[in-house]
Amino acid sequence: MKTSYNDEILTQRTYSRREFLALSALASAGFLAGCAINPVTGKNQLMLVSQDWEVQVDQQNSPHQFSTDYGKLQDNALNNYLQQVGKAMTPHTHRPEMPYPFQGVNATYINAYAFPGGSIAATRGILLSLESEAELAALLGHELGHVNSRHTAQQMSKGILTQAVVGGVAAYAGSRGDAYGQIASQLGMLGAGALLASYSRDNEREADRLGVTYMTRSGYGTEGFVDLMEMLNGLHKGNAGAASLLFATHPMSQERYDTAVSLKNNEFSSFISQPLYRERYMDHTAGLRKLKPAIGLFQKAEESMAREAYDQAEASFDQGLKLAPTDYAGLVMMAKCQMVKKKYDQALRFSEKAKQVYPQEAQANHLSGFAKIKLKKFDQAVADFTAYETKLPGNPNTMFYRGYAYEGMDNKKKSAEDYYHYLQQVKEGEQAQHAYQCLVEWGVIKPSSR
Ligand SMILES: [Zn+2]
Repeated sequence: MKTSYNDEILTQRTYSRREFLALSALASAGFLAGCAINPVTGKNQLMLVSQDWEVQVDQQNSPHQFSTDYGKLQDNALNNYLQQVGKAMTPHTHRPEMPYPFQGVNATYINAYAFPGGSIAATRGILLSLESEAELAALLGHELGHVNSRHTAQQMSKGILTQAVVGGVAAYAGSRGDAYGQIASQLGMLGAGALLASYSRDNEREADRLGVTYMTRSGYGTEGFVDLMEMLNGLHKGNAGAASLLFATHPMSQERYDTAVSLKNNEFSSFISQPLYRERYMDHTAGLRKLKPAIGLFQKAEESMAREAYDQAEASFDQGLKLAPTDYAGLVMMAKCQMVKKKYDQALRFSEKAKQVYPQEAQANHLSGFAKIKLKKFDQAVADFTAYETKLPGNPNTMFYRGYAYEGMDNKKKSAEDYYHYLQQVKEGEQAQHAYQCLVEWGVIKPSSR
């Protein structure tokens, strides 16, 4: 078996100046841990970041990712069910002490992911692809496997993730491969793409094995694990666009499926007769299943967006919204589609409606604010960015755009305040340059001599 620890990393690898600075920042923040016992293998491994770091990075980043995925499900019963299934598994893991909030998110593409502190989410797209509670347990078990093996912390220790996550919220990685990566970064959305960077095939193997371990210990039949792998393998072979992000982060292969079958028949064969709870899963997801036709159309629209076929995307969003007129994710995605088509009044109309159907969720405020800037309704845009900041603090772009709206109102004092705050977090890029130049021009700061 290949071991996941490696003491040679530190001595063999030369860190770039940037990575060194990032690691130093971690050290001064008290997050450096040194060697640690891997909770799964029980072996000592080089671990440059501590459990506190994992939890803090999780808490700073996961809310932004959940908002990027159109917020937590408004279906409380379904959310509670996911919590229940997940929480019942955590005592059987290697790190039962981690916080592990489980949630469903409104995104319609097919994905599930875990943050290093244990925040785990599954999209509506993947929930609709599962057919039993045992499959759900296998999915959550796999994500729990990544958290328990500390895969993100390992990548961090190897210097892979350093610059992305130090100093607050991770920058949106446009290379995430999802339909909205670029649009989202243009709009100043934050996601945690960098933090959820790809797992290696070894990571996947380890997470699969832990997944089946946790789900069988929790009383589910191994068939659920194989069913999940069969479903994923089918999506992978069929090249399902809706699952491209899932497979970009969790590499799928025939080998994973074959291994699953072999684990079921050999090492885990004694658990074959444990229940799968198909009906219980169907009962709890009945409400979601009613939306399946609309969600299918939204997935189709997202695939068109990824191909930059915006007219086709608009048509599919339109059809989907006819079936589910108050679907928050559908409305926000349609607003983005309109934004790309530069139809700002339409973008505003859909984002305003989205705000009404899910007032607690922040993303629609950002879109609405952005559309209002384009329509030169600067004072209203300020209100939207302020609302966004209240609902979801910590996105530096909110400060930039609100500053920009104040600038449009000729309110230099307020604009300068926001630009100044923005520049304290972001130093590079066009926005930073704009903010900097304004501050110099208005005599707020002196030009630096660099
Ligand atoms: Zn994985």
